[in-house]
Amino acid sequence: MPSSLPADYHMHTPLCRHASGTPEAFVAHALSLGLPEIGFSDHNPMPQPFDDWRMLSEDLPAYFTWIDQARAAAANRIPVRMGLEVDWIDGGSSWIHELAAMAPWDYFIGGVHYLGSWNFDNPSLTSGFSSLGIEAAWDRYWQLFADAARSGCFDIMAHPDLIKKFGHRPKGDLDRWYVPAITAVAEAGIAIEINTAGLFKDVAEMYPAPRFLELARAADIPLTINSDAHAPEDCGRAFSAAVSLAKAAGYTELARFSARQRTSVPLD
Ligand SMILES: [Zn+2]
Ligand SMILES: [Zn+2]
Repeated sequence: MPSSLPADYHMHTPLCRHASGTPEAFVAHALSLGLPEIGFSDHNPMPQPFDDWRMLSEDLPAYFTWIDQARAAAANRIPVRMGLEVDWIDGGSSWIHELAAMAPWDYFIGGVHYLGSWNFDNPSLTSGFSSLGIEAAWDRYWQLFADAARSGCFDIMAHPDLIKKFGHRPKGDLDRWYVPAITAVAEAGIAIEINTAGLFKDVAEMYPAPRFLELARAADIPLTINSDAHAPEDCGRAFSAAVSLAKAAGYTELARFSARQRTSVPLD
């Protein structure tokens, strides 16, 4: 199996109530693409009812069973990692530390989907961009992104510029938002992802933008390439384009994770 293909560490399960498929189908699709490794990172449970697009605390055992089934289906042909995509909610890391102690996780992917109570990446809530204003939304987003990076809770930062999902981008040089975020991630010593799902959203561009990736490379920030699959056929989606994007930014290695330890493999 060529080591140059990316692992896909960002995949969801039906436990989050907006994904489909079986562990066997995800593994079969990954094997058909020749991916060297996969990992699930479903939306984390919260300690109390929160929204309708994440797994419930009482479903954690079912998540562990899902991982076991995927590992059985993989039959040692590829490693199957167990992670979570964990929401960074302003001011709260104690629950994330509790979650971290609950299982032998391989990685936590930190994601910002909320600015206060506003779930800004929800297609039915985009009016928030006009009420708050695009620049103010970007300010809040990138501040939370930097806080999340510095929290010590995460191994990988999810879809770095998710705030552009519907095409809301301030005019002019975006480095004034990118640079402080890059500094936070670099100082925290954690990785980011290229998330190919952005290609299939309104913005029609992977997360993050090429310029952000170039700055990340210059700051020696480790990289993963992930699909954010919500169905088996999305696993590994657009990975060859993502590899080209990573190489264009100067990346020569990709990060791998096991038991929350990072290693790297060549991207050739
Ligand atoms: Zn996400
Ligand atoms: Zn996701």
